[in-house]
Amino acid sequence: MLWGTGCRHRQPPITPLRPIPAGEPTPPVAPPPPPPSLPPPDIPPPVPVPTVLKTAGQGWIPVEVWAAEVGLGMPVTSGDGTNTVFLLPHLESELALPLGRQQARWRQAEFWLGFPIRRVGGVPCIHAEDANRTVWPLLTDDGQPLAGTNRVIVLDPGHGGANPGAVSEAAGLKEKNLTLDWALRAKRLLEAKGWEVHLTRTNDTDCTLAQRVATADRHGAGLFLSLHFNDSSNPGNRSGIETYCLTPNGLPSSITRGFADDTSESCPNHAFDDLNLRLAMRVHKALVRRTGSPDRGVRRARFMGVLRTQQRPAVLIEGGYLSDRHDAGLIASGEYRQKLAEALEEALGSPP
Ligand SMILES: [Zn+2]
Repeated sequence: MLWGTGCRHRQPPITPLRPIPAGEPTPPVAPPPPPPSLPPPDIPPPVPVPTVLKTAGQGWIPVEVWAAEVGLGMPVTSGDGTNTVFLLPHLESELALPLGRQQARWRQAEFWLGFPIRRVGGVPCIHAEDANRTVWPLLTDDGQPLAGTNRVIVLDPGHGGANPGAVSEAAGLKEKNLTLDWALRAKRLLEAKGWEVHLTRTNDTDCTLAQRVATADRHGAGLFLSLHFNDSSNPGNRSGIETYCLTPNGLPSSITRGFADDTSESCPNHAFDDLNLRLAMRVHKALVRRTGSPDRGVRRARFMGVLRTQQRPAVLIEGGYLSDRHDAGLIASGEYRQKLAEALEEALGSPP
């Protein structure tokens, strides 16, 4: 049956009121019936957001001075030597900043600093660019729909056609087929939530990076997610999930793959630095949680052509290593790829 044909609310008949004679006690008025219970809105409860300020400092700032300036708890040192980590408690979580390594943690997920925490004159310091452009966007993310986005998502199954991407000869797997399956699974789930989802390719066809970006432009997408599986020249040593977004100006990339890493170069996608990182952390956290795969962190890169010119928050996800025997076995299963799709659904929630 079509909506609107035969489904009309009727007004109940009005019973005329009997006037109450003077002196007669007023009959008790029955309380109004409770409003019909509505299903709870499909919006996650607001995440308590620390009131964290940006630092006015520049260069290297002592962690203790920075924590006091921006409103974080005083750091507590854990471990020693190369395992030293500075823990900064705030609300129900804590920020973990390791000494000499880029792999920091916030709310049970790893993210990479541009510059490792280092001692200057014996005092542990954080770089101001990281404080303002890496830590601040994550700590102040309230989990609500990203500002300025819409309900249109473009999913980009990596590779295709003559470009198979990573290949696992042993398992007979090609990245291009697996990313397409992941994207199609995620599309179904996200559409059921009310998102409008477009794919950069829907079959095994060649697709340039520029065409992938153009698809997002053509549909006026508010978000762009490029889906990949990873390859390592060092098989057996690497497994797990990585999520990338564009490196902001002023910070070095987590990975360069031999490309120049000009920290002053401007790209259109730099307008979304904070939102890129928030989107990356949201999807990364859900991916690691759903799959139980090793957390290889939210990282930043400058060379990824599919991200650089995006006029919207954009991330690239590596959903496991095809070069790793264990990961390849997981990626080969529809069950694992369904978890990857469900993680995207969980991270993106309902459309704005
Ligand atoms: Zn790839």
